[in-house]
Amino acid sequence: MKYISTRGQAPALSFEEAILTGLASDGGLYVPESLPSFSKEEIASWAGLSYQELAFKIIEPFVAGDIPSEDLKGIIERAYSSFRHEAIAPMVQTAHNEWVLELFQGPTLAFKDFALQFLGQLLDYVLNKRQQKVVVMGATSGDTGSAAIEGCRRCQHIDIFILHPHQRVSDVQRRQMTTVLSDNVHNIALKGNFDDCQNMVKASFADQSFLPEGRQLVAVNSINWARIMAQIVYYFYAGLALGAPHKDVAFSVPTGNFGDIFAGYLASKMGLPVDQLIVATNSNDILHRCLSSNDHSKKELEHTLSPSMDIMVSSNFERLLFDLYGRDGAAIQQLMDDFKSGSMTLSDEALSKASELFSSYRLDDDGMIETIAKVYDSTEYLLDPHTAIGLAAARCERRRQDIPMVCLATAHPAKFPEAVEKAIAGMQPPLPHHMNDLFEREERYEVLSNDMGLVQSFVQKHSR
Ligand SMILES: *Cc1c(COP(=O)(O)O)cnc(C)c1O
Repeated sequence: MKYISTRGQAPALSFEEAILTGLASDGGLYVPESLPSFSKEEIASWAGLSYQELAFKIIEPFVAGDIPSEDLKGIIERAYSSFRHEAIAPMVQTAHNEWVLELFQGPTLAFKDFALQFLGQLLDYVLNKRQQKVVVMGATSGDTGSAAIEGCRRCQHIDIFILHPHQRVSDVQRRQMTTVLSDNVHNIALKGNFDDCQNMVKASFADQSFLPEGRQLVAVNSINWARIMAQIVYYFYAGLALGAPHKDVAFSVPTGNFGDIFAGYLASKMGLPVDQLIVATNSNDILHRCLSSNDHSKKELEHTLSPSMDIMVSSNFERLLFDLYGRDGAAIQQLMDDFKSGSMTLSDEALSKASELFSSYRLDDDGMIETIAKVYDSTEYLLDPHTAIGLAAARCERRRQDIPMVCLATAHPAKFPEAVEKAIAGMQPPLPHHMNDLFEREERYEVLSNDMGLVQSFVQKHSR
């Protein structure tokens, strides 16, 4: 299968090339030239498959021609062997016809493990075949760096460098990253803020001449196509468990960069009968404003208690726009040029197409705290702050009571104790057993000044 850019000007790439390339050369994002789709009979025949078996069915057509079936099975097996729950993505019922899909059973307790455990294994496989080594460089404000590190820690062909702002991430967040002692994993505590970390990474991607001969940087952030692809699987998994394809399902998704919910959109295009997709945002609500009042304008970033959704612009939204505009790359280029001014307006046609499937909702910190408290009070089920926003959105925006509503639980509550404590006084959600000794483990990280030359020579020196 070929992959094309949303802006129409970059060369089409193979699957392998697409996952090793970040942004397309025209500034767009890569999407498959055409989507596989499955008949009702075929989807029905998947009832009862394990998560890994289902993942194989869904991912195989995307990689056809690049990865032989047996090898793909191995990649999927290895990717999900680190999950603690046999079901990989179990569901819990929280109200009548309302379900929470627990996507936090992976090694770092957040849904990003679904994509990054898979991507690490996939990259290592592809790089081994090509006899190539790469460097992964990323910046984190604390909550998502560990998923990238866990995804790459066993990869022979990847050296990973993650920058976090020194003394500005929580102890749990830092320790989740710095206690991984593999010799291809490097944590850099930068004496600066998150923006400094991000600028350092951006500049390094723009000029990679500091890298050792023959190396390139690879982006594992949410614009990497393979991450989106891996996330399609759990929509089918939940749908099948609730009666699809014979019955419809609906999903509510705590949204930041629009990667997760875009995978839900793809699932529906591929044949899963999805009645509704709810985009749930915190106060950083550009997507809610866009979908509800055609106001897609940048506002200043607000720091909330659901930090993994703190974004100004959702990068993956461009992939949806590409479809809404009839896959016209020139139209997307025009829109993105307009957006350089800080805002853009969608066509009535695009907006009305979007509203057939999508609804949106915004919830601030107070509403989120109230939701955690209310749900705990009625069911003793403890939500993390991101999931709480999704669940509140589901209850407010739901179109039909008779269609099961699945709320994606994107993180374990123990990852965000501050919000939980605010909602339920005295409640300290315990870390799962396998992380009990987090505070006794040895740490390793390098504190560096906010100096490009220093950081880049560190990366150069430690690339194996
Ligand atoms: C990344 C993240 C999100 C947002 O997902 P997107 O794909 O960026 O929309 C929501 N919740 C948690 C816990 C996350 O880590």
